[in-house]
Amino acid sequence: LFESAKQVIAGGVSSDARRSPGVPLYVDHASGSRLWDVDGNSYLDYVLGQGPAVLGHCAPEVVAAVVDQVGRGISYAAQHRLEVEVAERLCRMVPSAELVRFNSVGSEAVHGALRLARAFTGRAKVLKFEGHYHGWFDPVLYSLHPDLEQAGPVEEPVPVPGSPGQPSSAEGDVVVVTWNDVEAVRAALEKHRGEIAAVIMEPILCNTGAIVPLPGYLEGVRDLCDEHGALLIFDEIITGFRVAPGGAQERLGALPDLATFGKAMAGGMQVSALAGRASVMETIASGRVAHAGTFNSHPVAMAAANATLTVLDEERDDRYGLLYRQGERLMEGLREAARQAGVQMLVDGLGPVFQTYFTSQESVRDYRDFARTDRQTAARFHAGLQDRGINIVPRGLWLMSTAHTDADIEATIQAATETLHAM
Ligand code: PMP
Repeated sequence: LFESAKQVIAGGVSSDARRSPGVPLYVDHASGSRLWDVDGNSYLDYVLGQGPAVLGHCAPEVVAAVVDQVGRGISYAAQHRLEVEVAERLCRMVPSAELVRFNSVGSEAVHGALRLARAFTGRAKVLKFEGHYHGWFDPVLYSLHPDLEQAGPVEEPVPVPGSPGQPSSAEGDVVVVTWNDVEAVRAALEKHRGEIAAVIMEPILCNTGAIVPLPGYLEGVRDLCDEHGALLIFDEIITGFRVAPGGAQERLGALPDLATFGKAMAGGMQVSALAGRASVMETIASGRVAHAGTFNSHPVAMAAANATLTVLDEERDDRYGLLYRQGERLMEGLREAARQAGVQMLVDGLGPVFQTYFTSQESVRDYRDFARTDRQTAARFHAGLQDRGINIVPRGLWLMSTAHTDADIEATIQAATETLHAM
């Protein structure tokens, strides 16, 4: 299949550059915590479509809702009942959400948030953070340095985007600073006084490590945004509906003006949302800023979102309890496996989303720390796990679903133990 693909698909794959050596995984089907490849091999899956399958693949509630909606019409480009129900539920679940608009994918929701922030404030610049990924659209494209995607040996730290001599959207209107450092934000806001429309971040960094911000950091940035009249945007496309029913903002107790959601909100279908304070979101209603899309509020995707959010909301104690319990058990098992094998592996993050790093550092607190981790060894770990039927995000990110069972966790720890001993 890969040889055929290369004849007709540029690079042989439909997303960004291939992240691991060898032939990419060709999936035949998926169910619960597992996928099966076209050769009949099965894998315990901790990629979950890069996060969406938070209830597991083919969660029965989601499948039933999708099948029902397909019979009623696949695409309307008209208003319908489900979008209202999803909007109502989202606004109930997410602390900062007073009004919402839907799109199809995460990059689009971020684009909408930045455009809205610029229209609302009348300012052009956006402040973002090293290593934070906000999609592949131009306004924030350079959030992830391309070198980071290569699994090759790293003698030097990866050049930091936005640092002197490095490519950066700062050519235009993006200011890039170090994360987890209130003073860096203060300095940038003072330097660009009156020019910054919004500060955008992953409130828990999940694209270059899995990093919970230092205590007081989000509050510090919140205060600075208020002082400088800049909007605070949380990109919750990974953390939303994953780390808590109301995302990182609920878990960490700091409120943004705008937030973006995607991935886990629809159990695998493509939906994203831009939500936030009514006073800001009203700018869209006023028509002062465009917000469009043929597939916005797509009925089948909304049916999936409605089913997913209903389960996560109404069974919140069970579902989030499970995500944390299973994730934490797995994290502890992986730490023990590394100790036994005598391998320096750091396991950090939260139960529902965590990261394995190969490093002698005691903690990874920002992109620069992440860039110093050994990604060649991470690539070997990834490959060794894949050979033993475990699928993780190649850079070492693990995403949990409520479909992962005790037996899955045991089997995964066993496979990791073997892999680490072999390494
Ligand atoms: N923001 C974050 C935090 C993400 O992790 C991603 C996707 N990995 C995006 C935005 C972009 O979302 P999409 O790929 O659906 O466009």
